[in-house]
Amino acid sequence: MAGERDGPVTVLCITGWCRNGSTIIGNILNEAHDFIHVGELHFLWKNAVGLGANNLCGCGLELGRCAFWSQILPLGRPAGTSAEYFAAEVVRRQRACVRTRHTWRILRRGLGSVGLRAHAELMTQVYRAIAERSGARVIVDTSKMPGEAALLAALGGEREDTIRPLFVHLVRDPRATALSWHQPKQYVYALPASASTAYWCGFNLAASAITKRHAEHSMALRYEEFIADPAGVIGHLLRFCGADPAVSPMTGRTVELHGNHTVTGNPDRFRTGATVVRDTDDGWRTELSRRPRLAASALSWPLRLRYGYLRERAKGGAGGERARASRRAPAPHWTEERGLRRGKAAP
Ligand SMILES: [Zn+2]
Repeated sequence: MAGERDGPVTVLCITGWCRNGSTIIGNILNEAHDFIHVGELHFLWKNAVGLGANNLCGCGLELGRCAFWSQILPLGRPAGTSAEYFAAEVVRRQRACVRTRHTWRILRRGLGSVGLRAHAELMTQVYRAIAERSGARVIVDTSKMPGEAALLAALGGEREDTIRPLFVHLVRDPRATALSWHQPKQYVYALPASASTAYWCGFNLAASAITKRHAEHSMALRYEEFIADPAGVIGHLLRFCGADPAVSPMTGRTVELHGNHTVTGNPDRFRTGATVVRDTDDGWRTELSRRPRLAASALSWPLRLRYGYLRERAKGGAGGERARASRRAPAPHWTEERGLRRGKAAP
């Protein structure tokens, strides 16, 4: 573990709707020198006291017993209060201040309430402590909560060099997302396609607002681009964070995973050893029945148009889209203003 460190801490915040592939991307980046993936940090307090969907760290220990998080969980807790009381207080503030519906207000007004200022102070402490304990320069946070992401730019208060936020808006085809939500997986519950797609729309709209507001520190990425060229996309993300792509842990489509300290995420986060990134994601075409497929398609088409999914279908039809998904050129990230282009690397 490293001690006190100087300079800003970069937080790479991956947004979008759950089941978008952020866990595997985060775990790959976790293998790069100077990077740590903390999973869905938003749920640290709730899960640590057993009120969330699962209470395990990626290392396999309970969060409260993990050597890494047990040192961070007491931060900001008033003397004489229990972990349970403090967790309830943090969750109450999160619900009051950083829900998806609060995203636009935070972007407009910044830390405009006592609750937001208190939460910002806690998150600043936590991110600094993560960097100090891990020795990492870049923290990958895959919480995907738009309110938390919007708040990120305001962290550090007057000490603007404390936290340097970078945003990745990660989008996955809503039909593939709906299929992923269709079946419960260990501690992850199931959602019908209509609900999954409604959330997909809401979270992606909020994520778009964040990347539009902070365009110079944002990039957009489709999950399908990642699986078409995982090494290329990981290299691009490393450059985006100011790291040398030569530290990429990818060898072709394969990465050797050595474990992590993630706070929840896809249950695959516990996987270690040689891991191959699959090259297709079109199981929804055959495994998602007609009714949920139509619901997901109908609810999402305006945003699928915005994110370039319909454009590719129009070029080559469904078969062409499927065929291209596995051989698409490296990471031409979309942006809503200019169409397809490469994401701008951060300094
Ligand atoms: Zn751990």
